[in-house]
Amino acid sequence: MKARVDEDLCSGCAVCVDTCPAVFKMNDDELAVVIGDSVPEDAQATCKQAADECPVEAILIEE
Ligand code: SF4
Repeated sequence: MKARVDEDLCSGCAVCVDTCPAVFKMNDDELAVVIGDSVPEDAQATCKQAADECPVEAILIEE
């Protein structure tokens, strides 16, 4: 599974970082970015939760 953040949509609210810090971090521009190439097995549930919670639907999940 892979995750991607659309930087044109991200508002920098950091909800995804709070929900799934194994996958998301804030960059120097205060936008969320994905850590690593693929989502670790044990972080997939919280990663999907973060995508659901993102207020601007900026997180894209690829199975
Ligand atoms: S939850 Fe969405 S809008 Fe908020 S920082 Fe994460 S990707 Fe950006």
